[in-house]
Amino acid sequence: MPAKDILIIGAGLTGIASAWALRQRGHRVTVFDAHDGPAEETSFANAGALTPSEPEPWNAPGVHWQLLSSLADPHSPMKLRVKAIPGLTSWGLRFLWNSRRSAYEAACQANFALSHHSLKLTQAVREAEQLEYDSLSRGTLKICRDAPPTPVRDGINKTLADMGLKSEILDVEETLAREPMLEAVRDQIAGSVFHPLDESGDARAFTRALARAAEAAGVRFEWKTRVLELIDRAGHIIGVRTDEEEIEVEAVVLATGHASWSLLAPHGLHLPVRPVKGYSLTLDMSGLNQRPGLPVVDEALHTIATPMGDRLRIAGTAEFTGLDRTLREDRVDNLRNLLRSIYPQIADTLLAGEQKAWCGFRPMSADGRPFIGETRARGLWLVTGHGHLGWTQAMGSGDVLASLMSGETPAIDASAFAATRI
Ligand SMILES: Cc1cc2nc3c(=O)[nH]c(=O)nc-3n(C[C@H](O)[C@H](O)[C@H](O)COP(=O)(O)OP(=O)(O)OC[C@H]3O[C@@H](n4cnc5c(N)ncnc54)[C@H](O)[C@@H]3O)c2cc1C
Repeated sequence: MPAKDILIIGAGLTGIASAWALRQRGHRVTVFDAHDGPAEETSFANAGALTPSEPEPWNAPGVHWQLLSSLADPHSPMKLRVKAIPGLTSWGLRFLWNSRRSAYEAACQANFALSHHSLKLTQAVREAEQLEYDSLSRGTLKICRDAPPTPVRDGINKTLADMGLKSEILDVEETLAREPMLEAVRDQIAGSVFHPLDESGDARAFTRALARAAEAAGVRFEWKTRVLELIDRAGHIIGVRTDEEEIEVEAVVLATGHASWSLLAPHGLHLPVRPVKGYSLTLDMSGLNQRPGLPVVDEALHTIATPMGDRLRIAGTAEFTGLDRTLREDRVDNLRNLLRSIYPQIADTLLAGEQKAWCGFRPMSADGRPFIGETRARGLWLVTGHGHLGWTQAMGSGDVLASLMSGETPAIDASAFAATRI
């Protein structure tokens, strides 16, 4: 297929990964972003975990009870705010409908396949381009507090194992051998699950390093350029209008994260993706003699503590609160408490130093799967809706998109991510 002129809107993880993959296939690629550089929105300070081991959408069976009870619980890790309910009605119903076990398991399998493929591509580009982003290839440790983990929680684990998921059930001693810093909470841990293939790193540093490599390979960037609308000619998207100009291209790719909805709605495309707010707190570990060695996940709290070079980042919590960007002190406090509950011996020292709190919006799809492919409007492509897995799935999503746009068969079955399901 001949090379195309392609405009990507969005320079977060998915936009940059897509630009890279498209340029590798010879297309002429331009990226527009409203910010003055890459990874300034949700890709700015996420938890940094590359976790094919966590393919589960957040609308697991039973999620409705969790959301309802969160209305009255200020510390609930997944929090629904009353004022957000009107804006969530149709998306919310689809979110709940997709918590049926069959839909949930199908999303787990599709997400795992994409994440697994993505991790291999992340490793490959890191080696080929010598990308530096405080990467760690030590796996992740999922701690269990109430009861020891059981070998097979349900059928989906066996299916994922057959697809390539590696996991080891650890007792308390084995858990402490993996992460000696958990000794201080030995009494509170019942065991853990270790996922040796998971990785971690600073997603923003990765995005910026990959953007530099993409620019060197010929991708053109225009910063501080906000796209106001898509230009539609008889159902065919032929370009965009920015705050300064109108440009025509052969294909437009929306990699606009949680903001995709507003560009699509005027064209009758009602993307079921809504912002789900999350928080992170980054602390300076440079003065510590003993440091955490690998990411520790506390699944019950949707939180994770990830070492990133000289820093430790605690991240998590999910808030359904619309586009309210307020950095709420009570949510940041939840992260401080989480730090105390995992590493009490270093918490006070770390919290006495510089604390960088941040919040961002996960672009959460109602069926727990991203959108990758061409929409019903010809010439308009999506790579968005990755929710809590945008870093884990970025390189794989870019690769699938670039294959589809180049007329190739993608390396994995991409039907579960079709953008025609809007
Ligand atoms: C607290 C937290 C922790 C997380 N932890 C993890 C994790 O450990 N692992 C993981 O895999 N994922 C994680 N995620 C999810 C991940 O960060 C996101 O899925 C990912 O960053 C989304 O990337 P994106 O490129 O789609 O969107 P973004 O990073 O938001 O990029 C979208 C870009 O589009 C631009 N844009 C939007 N509209 C326009 C417009 N009209 N004109 C021009 N530019 C526009 C924006 O400026 C922005 O730069 C986490 C998220 C949060 C909030």
